[in-house]
Amino acid sequence: MAEKNKILVLGDGMSGLTVANKLSLLISHKIAEIKVIGLSPRHFFRPDGLLIPFNMKGYHKSLKSTAFLLHNSVTYMRDEVVGIDLEQRIVSLKSGTFESFDNLVISTGTTYSPETLPGYEGEGKHFDDLQHALELKNILEKFNGGNIVVASPDSGNQCPPNAFQFSVLLDEYLKRKGVREKSKISLLTPFDSILPSTGGSKISEEILNDHNVELLSNFRVNSISEKNHEVVSKNGEHANYGLLVMIPPHRGQRFLLDSGISNESGYVNVDKYYLNYKDRKDVFAIGDATALNTPKTGYSCIKQAEAVSSQISRDLGSDYPLSRYNGEANCLSFAGNKMAFPIYEDYESTPKIGNPNKFDFLVKLMEADTYFSYLVRGM
Ligand SMILES: Cc1cc2nc3c(=O)[nH]c(=O)nc-3n(C[C@H](O)[C@H](O)[C@H](O)COP(=O)(O)OP(=O)(O)OC[C@H]3O[C@@H](n4cnc5c(N)ncnc54)[C@H](O)[C@@H]3O)c2cc1C
Repeated sequence: MAEKNKILVLGDGMSGLTVANKLSLLISHKIAEIKVIGLSPRHFFRPDGLLIPFNMKGYHKSLKSTAFLLHNSVTYMRDEVVGIDLEQRIVSLKSGTFESFDNLVISTGTTYSPETLPGYEGEGKHFDDLQHALELKNILEKFNGGNIVVASPDSGNQCPPNAFQFSVLLDEYLKRKGVREKSKISLLTPFDSILPSTGGSKISEEILNDHNVELLSNFRVNSISEKNHEVVSKNGEHANYGLLVMIPPHRGQRFLLDSGISNESGYVNVDKYYLNYKDRKDVFAIGDATALNTPKTGYSCIKQAEAVSSQISRDLGSDYPLSRYNGEANCLSFAGNKMAFPIYEDYESTPKIGNPNKFDFLVKLMEADTYFSYLVRGM
């Protein structure tokens, strides 16, 4: 009997689980073995990090066992990847073992790099993962008024409108808590507007005005002074805070750099449509791990998983139609007043921003349910 083809997926986040599940639906377990290697036994639906600090959702509904989310025919292995040898087609693991592969999908996302921003550690609070979102929830419960600065780093952050959404939800939370009058909210953005496109900047500025949030654009944070409780920009501007909520700087995983596969920031350069690495037709990267110049969104992870699974399954003899990634990035942004609006872009079209509406707000509140029962399962 011929040996089974071995498909190795590195990373057990949104993109890794989705691609593994899609592959398992397209390829018979008789011809291929699909294995996911990752470090997260519990899978957190990251967009809910925006809801948890404001008590808009209990975290139990945003969390599932990673093994439970994978189809039965996919093998899940908990270990840390420490190196990849593309010539030998071998991945080395922290446990001291090795895994060989015929097809490789790198989907190890990003990691925080607080060391690249002097003063960030200890001072910056955030909501990018469950632990930090819960910590922020506790801090906000005890907050009794003062200056809150909400900021984004220069680059590399996931879902670009996150700081904007946070400041709008924060205004409404502080009002409910009865301490809004004693508080000031300032939003610092490294860009000249919050959202891409002229329509987007008009909508976002109106929303911020409506929520009495001060906007400081082109504010590229250079350092944070714990002593003076201030954020200092690259141009020398200062912003004082009592509480600093700042998305941490991110970078790609160190082992990719050490293996000579990534750029100097740890991100993998891939073909923008087919997501394969250099001239290799058996090595791909998807999700936040790529160096693609598109916003890092979950929607992109799912579209990229679709493109890569179609290619691998066709290589293994399926007649599933070939799909490619067209730069699609999409998210719903909270707009306040129980409304949300869609933002969409791809390689061909400039960003499109929809009008705030109540329906999208409800969709956004229920996104995790759709994700867990349908999207991450590869359907
Ligand atoms: C607050 C917030 C709100 C968001 N809102 C939206 C939204 O509304 N819409 C939208 O589309 N997107 C949104 N996003 C973006 C979306 O969540 C991310 O793009 C997506 O989760 C990235 O998934 P990933 O699998 O590529 O990376 P990750 O989620 O980072 O997963 C990578 C996985 O790889 C594992 N790993 C890392 N290193 C190793 C190693 N060496 N060995 C083994 N395993 C390893 C990790 O444990 C992790 O499980 C949001 C993100 C955040 C933080």
